[in-house]
Amino acid sequence: MARRKTVNQTGISRVEGIPYHDAWIGYRCVNCNQLNNVRVGQTLLTPAEAFDTAVWECTSCGFIHSKESDLPFENWQDDYNSSESITAERFWQGFFRTATEHPESYWKQCNVCSRILPFQAFSKHAKWGPLERQMECRGCKGAINAVLNPKRTKQQLHESSVRRRIADLFLDGENEFIDIEELFKRFDGKCFKTKKKLDIKDRGSWHIDHILPSKWLYPLKVENAALLSTEANSAKKAKWPSKFYTNNELIELARITGGNLKLFTAENPIINRDIDVNKGVERYLQVRENSDLPKRIKEIKKILQFYKLVDNLSEENKKLLGFI
Ligand SMILES: [Zn+2]
Ligand SMILES: [Zn+2]
Repeated sequence: MARRKTVNQTGISRVEGIPYHDAWIGYRCVNCNQLNNVRVGQTLLTPAEAFDTAVWECTSCGFIHSKESDLPFENWQDDYNSSESITAERFWQGFFRTATEHPESYWKQCNVCSRILPFQAFSKHAKWGPLERQMECRGCKGAINAVLNPKRTKQQLHESSVRRRIADLFLDGENEFIDIEELFKRFDGKCFKTKKKLDIKDRGSWHIDHILPSKWLYPLKVENAALLSTEANSAKKAKWPSKFYTNNELIELARITGGNLKLFTAENPIINRDIDVNKGVERYLQVRENSDLPKRIKEIKKILQFYKLVDNLSEENKKLLGFI
């Protein structure tokens, strides 16, 4: 379907010409089970009206859904299938009732993804159309809201802080002491990225870049430390080195630090599988905090799965965490 130009800043455009106030009927063909949608507009049908007037043709097999139609059920006696029979009459009454009984029985078209979806797929909007639902489905609404309000949910924030905390616990005891004077000597007292001269005494003006980020479980070591100005470091953050430094810089960096050039230049993050996961698990389960043990076990399991480190666990820990 043609999409018109975006009228807002979200970059998510609406589809032109969608009758988004209209109600639709959704039903499955009694003959072939195809899902069909019939647009009924802004006046909802009562079950009695639908039973009396509806002539709904299946888009797949052409079967007509109407009280005048014989039923197609092969496992029923012929006289039960006949439109003249009381059984068929009752069947059709029930059929049209399910499709029209409540506003919630209806369907509606989303004017963003253009799908025709059940009532439940739309949030309430008191003024709009007979169904009083919003013009976009909840999926599209979620995407629009994410653009308008990119704050992450409490749950996401919690998860990322848990992940950081657990990553820190894995690294605890593996980080090396970094001799600052040595670091300045190695980097000639300059920001490695901007080549700006740095003052060792002005502690707010420089940072130690964790070249291979702790997020991917690399401890801070001489081979993994670069001297950066505060500005350069805040641009680097937890980026994988190849996403921040140029190739020539990476070669130079490996020469200065003795770090692993192959890792530095890897296109995508590679998890440090040499980390002692068992120690990390031990530390995490021992931490005194308010959360209960089952919750902590659940959290650490999720993280181990995220990092694909389950195989590195001892048999004992695999059992403890319920992996086996
Ligand atoms: Zn059909
Ligand atoms: Zn949608």
